Amino acid sequence: METKRVYLNQSDMPKQWYNIAADMPTPMQPPLHPGTGQPIGPDDLAPIFPMNLIEQEVSTQRWIDIPEEVLEILAIWRPSPLTRAYNLEKFLGTPAKIYFKDESVSPSGSHKPNTAVAQAYYNKAFGIKRIATETGAGQWGSSLAMACQLLGIELKVYMVRISFEQKPYRKILMRTWGAECVASPSQDTSFGRKMQAEYPDTPGSLGIAISEAIEDTVTSKDTRYALGSVLNHVMLHQTIIGLEALKQCEMVGAYPDIVVGCCGGGSNFAGLAFPFIRDKIYGKNLRIVGVEPSACPTLTKGSFLYDFGDTAATTPLLPMHTLGHNFIPQPFHAGGLRYHGMAPLVSQLVMDNLIEPMSFNQIQTYEAGMTFARTEGIVPAPETNHAIAGAIHEALKCKETGEAKTILFNFSGHGIMDLAGYDAYMDNKLTNYEMPEEEIQAALKVLESYPKPKVS
Ligand SMILES: *Cc1c(COP(=O)(O)O)cnc(C)c1O
Repeated sequence: METKRVYLNQSDMPKQWYNIAADMPTPMQPPLHPGTGQPIGPDDLAPIFPMNLIEQEVSTQRWIDIPEEVLEILAIWRPSPLTRAYNLEKFLGTPAKIYFKDESVSPSGSHKPNTAVAQAYYNKAFGIKRIATETGAGQWGSSLAMACQLLGIELKVYMVRISFEQKPYRKILMRTWGAECVASPSQDTSFGRKMQAEYPDTPGSLGIAISEAIEDTVTSKDTRYALGSVLNHVMLHQTIIGLEALKQCEMVGAYPDIVVGCCGGGSNFAGLAFPFIRDKIYGKNLRIVGVEPSACPTLTKGSFLYDFGDTAATTPLLPMHTLGHNFIPQPFHAGGLRYHGMAPLVSQLVMDNLIEPMSFNQIQTYEAGMTFARTEGIVPAPETNHAIAGAIHEALKCKETGEAKTILFNFSGHGIMDLAGYDAYMDNKLTNYEMPEEEIQAALKVLESYPKPKVS
């Protein structure tokens, strides 16, 4: 039998995270204060995040030690396997070799605990007793709930209303792991009450939920906020994925020609891709592809601008690809990809042509997910289906050209708790939505009066 799953020993788990800020061809542009337009300093962020995480956020040190206590918790499921998708290759009839890094093996079923555990640890180390956060499909909320439970911190989660209603099981998971979870917009914050009064039927959005969690944070005692994606320290914590994958690729002598990941806020993609982008910066020849939904086309159709991270326009301005902070995407099943912005690190690397963005519509992604489930057995998360669609797209190009390229994608999570979308697909009830250009331009108009990031 040929090797299908490549395992690392637990003793080979990376002991440091990789900080790509140390190697970027264009240095990162700072977050700005929305009032003054001036760069913000660590002290401005202190009411929101603990100082030890703020230090990581602004660090340009290449390698950062992973604390022992974090490694011990990650060892519950890490290192995660690297798997060769032989059956998918055979089904497609492609000469390409397709590998995936399987982040679905974590207790909550996705890559998110990689940063949840680290963030809960640093909050605790700083003396914080309670965390407030938002969640879309519930992947982040449940991952942080597990991490907070294991480290002894209280957690309150504001969950985007449409997911709260469509996805009851993650709510139950959050409660099982000891967290409180409410639908957003909620009655528990003044911004939530205002949104509910103005838009009684709103499905909610990540931007609204972030605003509520931040308001909770700054008005509660010993509380800080935690974000599951977008920020530099989140990308950092996820690089354990790519660092493990590099070792596993070496074990089977298969360095990728193409690395693929799906992009919501950018963290699972960054986690796998950044260690490979480092190789690319230093001369390796490979392509790095980030895949997003056509209904929320942040990288492929948004603009690189300074924008707020939340709908209430309370966060610092971040230099990123955005569809505008007022943008509320049409409901589609990949809840984790419904965010108006993108990680500034990922955005800058797109500007520097180190990452190629790509988009697929909803039905294409479910076709890919169905093909994967029926060949490899594992039912992918709706978000992960975007990465699979990208990998299949590249594998079929290889079929045309006859090239035996090696494709590596991030299997960011399983879909066992998100089956409704599969049901809709099989009943031919899924629809596609492309954002019209005028709608994008209208949503970006509100940013005209703010400073613009430099474009080299
Ligand atoms: C949250 C989530 C995503 C999208 O978030 P990123 O920060 O872009 O990784 C993708 N896949 C799964 C399974 C998720 O839970």
